[in-house]
Amino acid sequence: MRRLFSGCWLVTCDDAGTEHPSGWLLVEDGVVVAVGAGDEPDAAERIDLSGTVVTPGLVNTHHHLYQTLTRARAQQENLFGWLRELYPVWAGIDAEAEYAAARTGLAELALSGCTTVFDHHYVFPRGRTGLIEAEVQAAREIGVRIIASRGSMDLGVSDGGLPPDELVEDIDAVLADTDRLVDDLHESSPGARVQIAVAPCSPFSVTKRLMSESAEYARRRGLTLHTHLAETMEEEAYCMELYGATPVEYLTDLGWLGTDVWCAHCVHLSAADTADFADSDTGVAHCPTSNLRLGAGVAPVREYLDAGIRVGLGVDGSASNERGDLLHEVKQALLVARGRGGPTALTAREALTLGTRGGAAALGRDDLGSLEPGKRADFAAWRTDGLELGGADDLVAGLVFSAPHRVDRLVVEGEDVVRGGALVGADESEIVRAHRAQARRFAA
Ligand SMILES: [Zn+2]
Repeated sequence: MRRLFSGCWLVTCDDAGTEHPSGWLLVEDGVVVAVGAGDEPDAAERIDLSGTVVTPGLVNTHHHLYQTLTRARAQQENLFGWLRELYPVWAGIDAEAEYAAARTGLAELALSGCTTVFDHHYVFPRGRTGLIEAEVQAAREIGVRIIASRGSMDLGVSDGGLPPDELVEDIDAVLADTDRLVDDLHESSPGARVQIAVAPCSPFSVTKRLMSESAEYARRRGLTLHTHLAETMEEEAYCMELYGATPVEYLTDLGWLGTDVWCAHCVHLSAADTADFADSDTGVAHCPTSNLRLGAGVAPVREYLDAGIRVGLGVDGSASNERGDLLHEVKQALLVARGRGGPTALTAREALTLGTRGGAAALGRDDLGSLEPGKRADFAAWRTDGLELGGADDLVAGLVFSAPHRVDRLVVEGEDVVRGGALVGADESEIVRAHRAQARRFAA
């Protein structure tokens, strides 16, 4: 059935940056058929979106959904201190808690305009099953796309790693479980709603062998690869001590860098590292709020963009960014870029593009991220008639500068996920209640 969405300020995020201040969008079978302004095409259903700005759905490139259970902990710690305090708490995770956590994190993201979520799950306590299945179920219920990762840690504290020994796994078990999840859940066609990525946690929690075998496995199965990288100066010192290399040199030696890879944070890349990322077409998940919260620094995103690196945005886990709001992260990216490089370092539209098209590119999804014929019909409609946009003639810049906002309508694959600012497929207050009950199990 053809659905016509009309009367909106349409931001396409296409190559030319086309916008239609009074535009329309025609959708059929989950795909954008046409966009434009003026004469409207015929459609079986017509939806009036006047008074809104419509943007492509936002794409989140880094998260740990389980962390919604443990917010506002380790409040003055850096990354390593924060992890050491939280690892033992996270060891209590099971499928029931993961489901409640994922529903909360995914609902927050959907209500902030996000249609596609990458989740990096790497905590698999022994004997607990169904963790990835629980978050995939939550994504199906809320209605957003999910790229769930079978993460891993196998370098425990007794071998010189950071995580406690009871949270590390055996390499063969990790790869066998990844294989099972890929066979059961991974979709590879355009418009895929559920995918599996391979994501060993970080250089300080994973052995060289597991890093290498993960890359080899992912490439054999045609999956994307992800890890944390160069988040803090302490991580760099750790890599120098353990491997005699910086984090980027270490990944390069392992043959990791490539078009199928994107790395979270990349706060501390040298000019040579930046060139290596650009030459190898390795992507970056920029998580400014989390980096500020942990005092890690600010990634030089302007330099990355100028070098031609694929950059998307991530809210990161809710234990290091208590607000899982992706439009807010668009604004944060703009503010930190300007804090580093002055008021021309990033425009509002460039920041919005990082959150949409940049995220899709980082995840290797060329079917998402812009509103053009042939792309999936994933978009967000934002009301512009509230208090905070009064006086703004440029409503697109106004939307970014005045973020966060609750999305009015969110559409995934042509179907409503949020309507009138409320979830369509789930009850927000019930999600909150169920989450509080699970979070109590993790109370300090
Ligand atoms: Zn992270």
